[in-house]
Amino acid sequence: MKTDELRQKYLDFFQTKGCTVCPSDVLVPAWDPSVLFTPAGMNQFKDHFLGKVELDFTRATTCQKCLRTGDIDNVGRTAFHHTFFEMLGNFSFGDYFKEESIHWAWEFLTDKKWLGIPGDRLSVTVYKDDDEAHGIWHNKIGLPDARIARMDEDENFWPASAPSEGPDGVCGPCSEIYYHLEDGSEVEIWNLVFTQFNRSGNPPDNLRPLPSKNIDTGMGLERTASVLQGVPTNFHIDSLFPIVQAAAEVCGVKYEYNNDNSRRLRRITDHARASVFSIHENVYPGAKDARYVIRRLIRRAVLDGYQMNLREPFLYKLVEAVAETHKTPYPELGQTTARVAEAIEAEEKAFFATIDGGMTRIERLFKQMQSDSQSMVPGADAADLQTTYGVPPELVQTLAAEQNYTFDWKGYRTAMDEHATVSGGDQQVLFQTGPLETLKEALRVTPFVGYDATEAESTIK
Ligand code: ATP
Ligand code: MG
Ligand code: MG
Ligand code: MG
Repeated sequence: MKTDELRQKYLDFFQTKGCTVCPSDVLVPAWDPSVLFTPAGMNQFKDHFLGKVELDFTRATTCQKCLRTGDIDNVGRTAFHHTFFEMLGNFSFGDYFKEESIHWAWEFLTDKKWLGIPGDRLSVTVYKDDDEAHGIWHNKIGLPDARIARMDEDENFWPASAPSEGPDGVCGPCSEIYYHLEDGSEVEIWNLVFTQFNRSGNPPDNLRPLPSKNIDTGMGLERTASVLQGVPTNFHIDSLFPIVQAAAEVCGVKYEYNNDNSRRLRRITDHARASVFSIHENVYPGAKDARYVIRRLIRRAVLDGYQMNLREPFLYKLVEAVAETHKTPYPELGQTTARVAEAIEAEEKAFFATIDGGMTRIERLFKQMQSDSQSMVPGADAADLQTTYGVPPELVQTLAAEQNYTFDWKGYRTAMDEHATVSGGDQQVLFQTGPLETLKEALRVTPFVGYDATEAESTIK
């Protein structure tokens, strides 16, 4: 099943369940200061869940353009993470709840009329105390106990770990659906969140039942397409692989799936797509907030190109491929390709102009660290690399991690503060995510254990 067909089927299915098909919100929601980018389908409905807006409907379904900055370092290394991706969602505002949500997810996934995935390829998780959800999966859907895992807050309370400790706002237990791949690993494709609390203030008494119980679900479009298409990563689906191939062509390398260059090509594909969608919305690469994230993505892609021996802008040449592969759902991209390509090329040029100096400096720095038996990149060097050569500190951190070096963020911030005082500039822009993401991702911070370990976990072998 083609990706475009899957998107349409999902919306059609939930329309048959009485959901109003709503358009995607923008990718960069200026109306919502709590996030830089839309992180999930529910974002545009936050006030609906809180009962703050008058509703024309109590059931909705969307395909939402999302971008998760917290996943940047996963891209290219895991099989199933992008920065920009599309999330298919269905939502209930005080209308249907757990029973329907679970039944409909199962029906959509397994019924031959819809996706027809064999039920025995699926397993689920529920929040450890959620007997109701467990009961529905077990008694009504008929899933054996062995395929229903009870998980704790870290996995199955959304957002945040302990129910009382997350960001203010709507939250609740969730149930996730996993698909089992041929190689024995599994991939999470859909999260059903039973949004039933409003969290406000400090624990312990900060969880209040919402005036009405809600449903918020998110299914990854690209992940589900990859499962249905039987391909090894999200980047191999019909809507993305042409971009990977275009990237291989402009970079003059062959895409071979499991080597350094292929990882680079997947990252370039992802970052090109994210940049196109963002710049299309007039969020250009720059020094702050969402703009800085886009700068960082473009520079990361340029660095990947540089490591494949490119010395001239190339990323902008992929704009057409992104517009072309996404023209059915997003025909508007076709109208801004020239403007978008120009902006990307300008950013590439600026970085290419200093990258030689930056890379030489980094290599010297790593050599010096090696001979000094030092394992942490000094913050002052990273600050200098940024202000002199335009190398974002996150890129230095990535390169350092490849050598198993850590990175001195504290020292970096101090050095940048000093620099700002001296130059009167406004240079320091740290990488940010929305509060929901920050919290979730903060819980997942693990020490760097090398690419192989990361990949083994995530099925690129
Ligand atoms: P994971 O554990 O794989 O990082 P998640 O639990 O963070 O996923 P949710 O917040 O539950 O993801 O989002 C709902 C769905 O969106 C997921 O089940 C998945 O299918 C999809 N999804 C989440 N993050 C990404 C991403 N970075 N790229 C592509 N799809 C994603
Ligand atoms: Mg995640
Ligand atoms: Mg997960
Ligand atoms: Mg999840």
